[in-house]
Amino acid sequence: MRIRPVLGVLTLSGALLVAPSPAFAGGGPAPALGPTATGYGGAVSTVDPTATAVGIDVLRRGGNAVDAAVAAAATLGVTEPFSAGIGGGGFFVYYDARKRSVQTIDGRESGPATMKESHFIDPADGLPYDFAEARVSGLSVGTPGTLATWESATKKWGTRSLASLLQPAAKVADRGFPVDATFRQQIADNAAPFGQFDSTKALYLPGGQPPAVGSIQRNPDLADTYRLIARQGTGVLYRGAVARDIVRTVQNPPVSSTPAGAWAYPIRPGTLTLSDLARYDLRHPAPTRSTFRDLTVYGMNTPSSGGIAVSEALNILETAGLSKSDVTKALHYYLEATALSFADRNRYVGAYTPQPVVKKLISDEWAKQRACQINPAKALTKPVPPGNLNDSGCTPAKAGGPTEQGQSTTNLTVADRWGNIVEYTFTIEQTGGNAMVVPGRGFLLNNELTDFNFTNTQAPAADPNLPGPNKRPRSSMSPTIVLKDGKPFLALGSPGGATIITTVLQILLNRVVLGQSLPQAMAAPRASQRNSAGIQAEPAFRTTYGPSLTALGHTFAADVPELGAATAIEFTKHGGFIASAEPARRGSGAAAVVHPAR
Ligand code: GLU
Repeated sequence: MRIRPVLGVLTLSGALLVAPSPAFAGGGPAPALGPTATGYGGAVSTVDPTATAVGIDVLRRGGNAVDAAVAAAATLGVTEPFSAGIGGGGFFVYYDARKRSVQTIDGRESGPATMKESHFIDPADGLPYDFAEARVSGLSVGTPGTLATWESATKKWGTRSLASLLQPAAKVADRGFPVDATFRQQIADNAAPFGQFDSTKALYLPGGQPPAVGSIQRNPDLADTYRLIARQGTGVLYRGAVARDIVRTVQNPPVSSTPAGAWAYPIRPGTLTLSDLARYDLRHPAPTRSTFRDLTVYGMNTPSSGGIAVSEALNILETAGLSKSDVTKALHYYLEATALSFADRNRYVGAYTPQPVVKKLISDEWAKQRACQINPAKALTKPVPPGNLNDSGCTPAKAGGPTEQGQSTTNLTVADRWGNIVEYTFTIEQTGGNAMVVPGRGFLLNNELTDFNFTNTQAPAADPNLPGPNKRPRSSMSPTIVLKDGKPFLALGSPGGATIITTVLQILLNRVVLGQSLPQAMAAPRASQRNSAGIQAEPAFRTTYGPSLTALGHTFAADVPELGAATAIEFTKHGGFIASAEPARRGSGAAAVVHPAR
């Protein structure tokens, strides 16, 4: 369990170890933090109480949703460093209440200019690297987009300087925060790769071991890096001293001469250069937009597959006339719809998917063409083939397609009193990224380029997600904003690799079709069918729904302990907020509002 309430620095027993977070100096009482908060004046939901508290404080002091989101995100870079930070990338979706429009920032990592399709093929034997070998290498590192995202968001839509929004996070990094069981476990799970690098060992394996639960974790190097960025601007990470340190780390991984533990693979250098960093560009693609009943659903366009897959699956569900009176039918269609949309995603979606193809995949016509295969009485055999873009009948194309999984990344949801909303998912890919802390800078590098397929998964058809020069790997991140009658209704997102798509969809299904409250929809047990033979499910899902779904022909793979770590905010009719975080998954999250309802 997380430790709460938290000003950033409480021990498990509740004793105050370090002075309260300066974010609260004069800022009023600390917000009540739990998985659900209802009230007014603005709301924040993240996976971490310190980050949520920082976001709420920014809102209380008159900052808007973008200001609060960036300050909370910078704090997550300190307290959730294995999921996200300035060494990674992500997708920022913003609803502007005044303009009534949804805009996005694609801050996805991009590959080196020299990257070839064979990037992850071992020249020695012509075979793809093992995933772990590719991950813990310089080859996996893309140019980080996170800091550029924060700068662009604050400049375009915020009211505070990025420099000021980095300060609370810098203070948390300096003063430290208590290690909880999740933090410790994430290090324990990464002990072997972390132990290979002096910089990572020094920060996260003190005395060769993961830090004890309740001990205080500090990161003065990251505090200094944040302050350096505050003084010199983000250019320091793209063209200055930090850029040089990133490139040096990629090209000459700081491998320890006294590693802690064994690592089975050679640690390969990468080819990312200073000019790759200097040329990094954010993109601002139009969001995906689709409708489900009386809702309009906005999501992330390519290079994420999130908005496309969520929209396609929702459109398929809409063809089925689902209702809360038949939960088995709703779940049956949910599992079939995601299998079909993953087949299409794997075949058609990558960084360069033409927008007419995106439009087609999220159209009602396409959903009808795909849904016509679903038998209400019998599950389809998985994997299902992708649909044929040139055919309007029920004929599928030839089969092919991998399934992916993962459990990293973080998500936050913020809304302000003016009605602006931020839904932001960001990541360093695997939990622990590529395992290299940039020496002297206090942050881990991403391994995002391993989101490319290493070899063609769609042969004889083309694979849209192979590496290429400057290319961004396909993502599953699905920051989603839903309007009803033109007004905000729900904003949500989650980590979880490719399961992000199914988690976002399942929360929507629970809330909108099955009529659950948002906290119920978040807490409900999850399952993920990504077009593989067996459904991945949390034990409680299989226990509850397994018998009826198995009777329809669905098969379950081995249980997974948990899927996702979502955050969400629902907007009530009278300008109020229901902020919602996980009640249990990943050690539980933290939701708060500026003025709690009595
Ligand atoms: N890198 C993954 C993606 O962009 C997210 C990683 C995860 O959530 O585990 O889809």
